[in-house]
Amino acid sequence: QTDDSRAAQIPRYVRVNRNCWTIEEAIKTFVSRGYELGDPLACNKAFAKDEHIPDLLAFHPHVQFVDDALYKEGKIILQDKASCFPAYILAPLEDEGSSVIDATAAPGNKTSHLSALMGNKGKLFAFERDRKRFSTLKMMLSKARCRNVEAVSADFLTTDPTDAKYSKVTHIMLDPSCSGSGIVNRMDHLLESDKQKDEDQDRLAKLASFQLMMIRHAMKFPSAERIAYSTCSIHAIENEGVVRQALDAPEALEGQFTLAPREQVLPAWRRRGLDEEMNNADDAQTLVRCSPDEDGTNGFFVCLFVKKADIGSSSN
Ligand code: SAM
Repeated sequence: QTDDSRAAQIPRYVRVNRNCWTIEEAIKTFVSRGYELGDPLACNKAFAKDEHIPDLLAFHPHVQFVDDALYKEGKIILQDKASCFPAYILAPLEDEGSSVIDATAAPGNKTSHLSALMGNKGKLFAFERDRKRFSTLKMMLSKARCRNVEAVSADFLTTDPTDAKYSKVTHIMLDPSCSGSGIVNRMDHLLESDKQKDEDQDRLAKLASFQLMMIRHAMKFPSAERIAYSTCSIHAIENEGVVRQALDAPEALEGQFTLAPREQVLPAWRRRGLDEEMNNADDAQTLVRCSPDEDGTNGFFVCLFVKKADIGSSSN
């Protein structure tokens, strides 16, 4: 399949920003504009509520919203379905006492999603180490009316997990830099020469070791109970490979981190981790994968680490 034909099968996803209004109000508004509920791939005036993610609507791929007032006002966020999985799976609590970290935040789509799931309550620390991207993040958070976010212009790896500020942080989201190989219009680099492939292997190994370092750092936060790790990569080395190593890391053993059971990690989603890349099939079942060819999303990967003691608690 070419990128164009893949892209034609990916609906235009729109996340309704609960910090501004409700999904019911959004649906009414779209209906008043002449859209009707139906199959978004069949007709460019049809739209649908997503079956996995609350507050997510799917439109025909040709529909554009970048110039729409709703987008400019932050009432809708243009976010691929798969990239809504991490915040939903992390499932932060909607509570004044909530304390959450987004370790790699810019441009901020997942940060604003977390903020909305928290009901704009509690505290969400959003780290971004790149100065330019940090400005984008600040703009995005203000547009999305996130009042519970403290944006921090810093490298997450330099933060002290024992700092009193972070003593109540229970939920951490890690969506670190990755190869981006799952993004549909970047797939063509997979077809390149052997030399290029070697360079890619080298680059992927470096990315994987950075990703592992980020997870290990997150596991050091004393009250951390849930850590969601995600990439928009299709490569096992950045996904299952990193997860396997993280489970064996001293921080996981000390912090008693393990993989959340499948029931807690979007159980209705059928595509799971790669069996052959994990030590056992049960572990692979707890991981979520999205295929750019078959799922109507970009290629994506999500995993949820939980403290062994918290395995019984409910979530998505
Ligand atoms: N979660 C974001 C979203 O959905 O909008 C996308 C995050 S992007 C994949 C990764 C971001 O992490 C980049 O902006 C990068 O600059 C930032 N980053 C990478 N390493 C970091 C670190 N050690 N500390 C803080 N930010 C980091």
